[in-house]
Amino acid sequence: MRVPDSILDGLVVIAVVALLAAVSEDSDAGRRWGVIFLTSGGLAGAVGAWNLVTRDRLKPGCCARCGYDLRATPARCPECGTRQD
Ligand SMILES: [Zn+2]
Repeated sequence: MRVPDSILDGLVVIAVVALLAAVSEDSDAGRRWGVIFLTSGGLAGAVGAWNLVTRDRLKPGCCARCGYDLRATPARCPECGTRQD
């Protein structure tokens, strides 16, 4: 199963904000933001790697982006709106 891109985008945003906060804060607060950065960045990396690994395993006739079954609507995915060219 593919993780939606919106979740991956959210994790990346959290990681970037936490990194900026970790750099600007001093001592304890900076360390806490650093932990948040490492956690969210690690999760984003894991989700991105998972999506790359599972991307090529999609069955024929399924949306390349979300994996939705496109037998009824082959031109456009009703789940995520991706055009199937
Ligand atoms: Zn789709």
